[in-house]
Amino acid sequence: MSSASRSPATESFDAIVLGAGGAGLMCAAVAGQRGRRVLVIDHADEPGKKILISGGGRCNFTNAGAGPGQYLSANPHFAKSALGRYRPADFIAMVDAHGIAWHEKTLGQLFCDGSARQIVAMLLDECDRGDVAVRCGHAIRAVDHADGAFTVTHGERMASAPKLVIATGGPSIPKMGATGFAYELAKRFGLKLIEPRPALVPLTLGAEEALFRELSGVASDVVARSGKTAFREAALFTHRGLSGPAILQISSYWRHGEPIGIDFLPDQPAGWLRDAKRTRPRAGARSVLGGLLPDRLADTLAERLALAGELANLPDRALEAAERRLADWRFHPSGTEGFAKAEVTVGGIATTGLSSQTMEARAVPGLHAIGEAVDVTGWLGGYNFQWAWASGWAAGQTL
Ligand SMILES: Cc1cc2nc3c(=O)[nH]c(=O)nc-3n(C[C@H](O)[C@H](O)[C@H](O)COP(=O)(O)OP(=O)(O)OC[C@H]3O[C@@H](n4cnc5c(N)ncnc54)[C@H](O)[C@@H]3O)c2cc1C
Repeated sequence: MSSASRSPATESFDAIVLGAGGAGLMCAAVAGQRGRRVLVIDHADEPGKKILISGGGRCNFTNAGAGPGQYLSANPHFAKSALGRYRPADFIAMVDAHGIAWHEKTLGQLFCDGSARQIVAMLLDECDRGDVAVRCGHAIRAVDHADGAFTVTHGERMASAPKLVIATGGPSIPKMGATGFAYELAKRFGLKLIEPRPALVPLTLGAEEALFRELSGVASDVVARSGKTAFREAALFTHRGLSGPAILQISSYWRHGEPIGIDFLPDQPAGWLRDAKRTRPRAGARSVLGGLLPDRLADTLAERLALAGELANLPDRALEAAERRLADWRFHPSGTEGFAKAEVTVGGIATTGLSSQTMEARAVPGLHAIGEAVDVTGWLGGYNFQWAWASGWAAGQTL
């Protein structure tokens, strides 16, 4: 018999988890420690690659204030159950139990003092305690479903289990091994998708706003708005357009064709430019802006506002109009930098087909989906890992 036609013996497990990222490892550890025999399969050469590069190598592993209000989903209620049952404090307790030192950076964002590698080591240790088998470097060649069992052909091996967990994430950063595999598999099982879009991603500016691209490297504290959503953080001009935390946050809400509004002077009270005319009548708009903003940004904005001459010679009407513009400067992004640069994906496996308690597919008993693969996306700042842990924990409780 040729080796190609020799069928390998099928190993039996209680559950197979596809994807050894944050969600998959948490889910496997929880189920393993509940006595389930669990196999985790990943095509990457090592587990938790996105954890390793996250937070500049220090992993912003949760946000102390994480709650359902900081997540985007077609069903904003879906994430409540898992996030309510597995909270930031639960993950912090695990981090503490493993002796990993951490600190709060800003806005509730918690980072390792040392390295993101400690978080991966912790999750693998938790998997070990549950006797979980973790196999990396195994391409998933086939997933079959018959007689209530899921059979996964990976590399030269076959494994079968009554429970299967899709934890292969979203397509952001393909060079890290990210794929749309979760979506293909979900579709095959009849689950619906919410159109996946790059999120937490820099925005690009077109030729008509090229002047701003010349500000590459300039950062400023702003309020960025898209529709009714607003974030106050730093914005950064780049040679392609706009980036920085405020822009990454707003990018998750932005849709092609819509403008984004930037308030360049969020701390200035209404009427501040008219007041400046009274207190500094001989000053020009450029020098007033220069006192409040980085020099190069002040130059560009003053040029665009075309307020020539001394403030004393400018009508109040013109100053009020300039103030309004500075508080809601409209940019029309030509696009985003795409999945290659996106930290996460908005959209994914539709929550309508899943139980929010167990993450199990309503129409396919035994099939589960967790983590970024699902249509739940967090803000920047540790929220996405908290969803990975919480959804992984919720599924792990029921396998
Ligand atoms: C640069 C960067 C920095 C980030 N920083 C933070 C941060 O500090 N804090 C935060 O909360 N979030 C951060 N995120 C987001 C966070 O990394 C993700 O939300 C989180 O990793 C999602 O976990 P997951 O387990 O669902 O998916 P992933 O971590 O993507 O894991 C999926 C796993 O499935 C595997 N896989 C994919 N396709 C296949 C396939 N076809 N066959 C087999 N295996 C497959 C992958 O190799 C991977 O190991 C960051 C993301 C990026 C890209």
